Amino acid sequence: QPQPARDRLDQTLISATRHRRAAAVLFLDLDRFKSINDSLGHNVGDQLLKAAGERLAACIREGDTVARLGGDEFVVVLADMARTQDAAHLAKKVLGRLAQPFSIDVHNAGAEEFFITGSIGVSLYPGDGEDAETLLKNADVAMYRAKEHGGNNYQFFTPEMNARARKQLSMENALHGALDRNQFVLYYQPQVDLAGGGIVGVEALLRWKHPEQGLIAPAEFIPLLEETGLIVPVGEWVLREACAQATAWREAGLPPLRMAVNLSARQLRDGRFADTVAAALADTGMDPDGLELEITESLVMQQVEASLEALRRIHALGVHISMDDFGTGYSSLSHLKLLPIDAVKIDRSFVRDIPDDENDAAIVEAIIVLARTLRLNVIAEGVETEAQLAFLRALGCGAAQGFLFSRPVPAAELTERLRETWPR
Ligand code: C2E
Ligand code: MG
Ligand code: MG
Repeated sequence: QPQPARDRLDQTLISATRHRRAAAVLFLDLDRFKSINDSLGHNVGDQLLKAAGERLAACIREGDTVARLGGDEFVVVLADMARTQDAAHLAKKVLGRLAQPFSIDVHNAGAEEFFITGSIGVSLYPGDGEDAETLLKNADVAMYRAKEHGGNNYQFFTPEMNARARKQLSMENALHGALDRNQFVLYYQPQVDLAGGGIVGVEALLRWKHPEQGLIAPAEFIPLLEETGLIVPVGEWVLREACAQATAWREAGLPPLRMAVNLSARQLRDGRFADTVAAALADTGMDPDGLELEITESLVMQQVEASLEALRRIHALGVHISMDDFGTGYSSLSHLKLLPIDAVKIDRSFVRDIPDDENDAAIVEAIIVLARTLRLNVIAEGVETEAQLAFLRALGCGAAQGFLFSRPVPAAELTERLRETWPR
């Protein structure tokens, strides 16, 4: 109930002004709560919310206020604050209390332990705002920053956060029109076969040609596309564009290249995604064997059952599937066996410090051995030096991709390179 929470907030602030005392607003949002709700059901979700609210209430002093703003959002008003540090102490205390396991009875099948964390944004009265609305808004902005830091932490509001939030909002608005305005382009990065030395595939990587800001890298806008759901139409555009390009290269007489396309969780969750893939193949005249879809561990883990079903259907079309950023997420090895996967891509973070870093060298070697045992192809990502290449080659790594061979380049540039290396 937003209104009573607002009323109480207003009241606390009125009394703070009257007594010329400082106050703080703590905005708490539970991390990944939606996925708990989706996977365990609303019954469990509601019990967790109730228990979390009780713990929150147990953290505060008399005179402070806790209210649920709706969903998994809570607000705490710290009245009559002596020092700014009090707000930080309270935020820490709340995070600490939340971190204790929650024991919930799931469908009357006995109590189970659940772990949740929260993100907290803090705004201070009077410095960060003089009325309830501004303070809540700024605490919310700071909470988002806490989320960006990976959750389970708190952040104090700063004016720069507002500037950033405004920039994000304008970017979000611009993204809504970007597809219709043809502002997306694909760059292609070659994948090189380490035994033969030739280009065996390319990965399609999305770029946004922003009218004012120029070329924008995916890390800056893909999270926004996912949040807004725009990743579904944009992802379909990527798939079709990449397939059309692969067909164009084939028709130009260039040797066959496998086209790798990145997927995000939202796309797989769409029940008709396998049909989308089949239609893209048919409409562009693309051979399914020439397409490889890159998934990530976290993508699959978000909804194992639904993803598995969609992946099996796609695999049955003859399309290849690879596991991107392998080793960075948390999937169990049993999932690797369960999923219809043809290849793993060793994440750049492991490749960066080989061969000098012994731990990374051991991890890379283990992944290569594991892949061989499971009869999976293996591609090393982010290869930048000859030393890395030599190390990977010695271990029998199948293929590699990285700035050592080429950065991602526009289609026309890659066409030139392909013609040079493989004249008709
Ligand atoms: P990724 O799929 O792991 O792609 C590899 C990223 O590593 C690319 O960044 C590429 O430019 C970069 N890279 C390649 N070789 C090197 C190297 O030697 N050194 C260094 N430092 N970096 C290298 P990019 O293009 O910025 O893409 C970042 C991420 O954005 C991708 O990671 C992928 O997860 C996501 N992404 C890109 N395009 C799409 C798309 O069409 N759909 C979806 N869902 N995600 C995409
Ligand atoms: Mg990738
Ligand atoms: Mg990767």
